[in-house]
Amino acid sequence: MQEKFSPKAVVLFSGGLDSITCAAIAKSMGFEVFALSFYYHQRHKIEIEMAKRAAAVLGIKEHLVLDLPLDRIGGSALTGDLEVPKDIPVEAMQSRIPVTYVPARNTIFLSFALAWAEVLGAQDIFIGVNALDYSGYPDCRPEFIDAFRQVANLGTKEGVEGRLQFTIHTPLIAFSKSQIIQRGTELGIDYSITHSCYDPDEQGRACGSCDSCLLRKKGFAEAGLPDPTVYAANHR
Ligand SMILES: [Zn+2]
Repeated sequence: MQEKFSPKAVVLFSGGLDSITCAAIAKSMGFEVFALSFYYHQRHKIEIEMAKRAAAVLGIKEHLVLDLPLDRIGGSALTGDLEVPKDIPVEAMQSRIPVTYVPARNTIFLSFALAWAEVLGAQDIFIGVNALDYSGYPDCRPEFIDAFRQVANLGTKEGVEGRLQFTIHTPLIAFSKSQIIQRGTELGIDYSITHSCYDPDEQGRACGSCDSCLLRKKGFAEAGLPDPTVYAANHR
């Protein structure tokens, strides 16, 4: 019997709620998923272990974890010594670029995804950015994604020689956090396997008050679904 052909896609896969939903959507579209995670010396390195487990649960074809010491460049509360801001009202998040911004992170991550995609012969790259309910990062916006698509097609051998036409898929870009959770739940995702917190404790339990925790909590509340997150005992 002939096996059904599935096109390959590279999915940026942090182990968070958005990237897992993004991977499940790519699978539901018929792609064979190659997931790419980065240990960029983030303070929430627990997300790498969560990503490995989630990749196994989702039936990812291959999961690659690259080590990028972005802490040596610094400039972010996620990799440096700055405090992670807590208890910022969700309405205020979108009016600032917070100190948890990691300089050029999505440009760096997409560049590695592109390199791997070119080698795999995959012209589809997925990234779980969303422009609603987000933390104000400039590299999550549609104009950035479109510019990167042009970079991908102009800056690769497979692109300029016309064998691959790269597309950057952002299936969550217009979704609120609660819509992402609803879509993922429809696709059978158990969100207890995901990690979102920027500042977890030693056991990997969520702080409950960083931007990422607050957006996640609000998402479950608005979706009307129980929040499976394990919070630290002293969380507010
Ligand atoms: Zn948190």
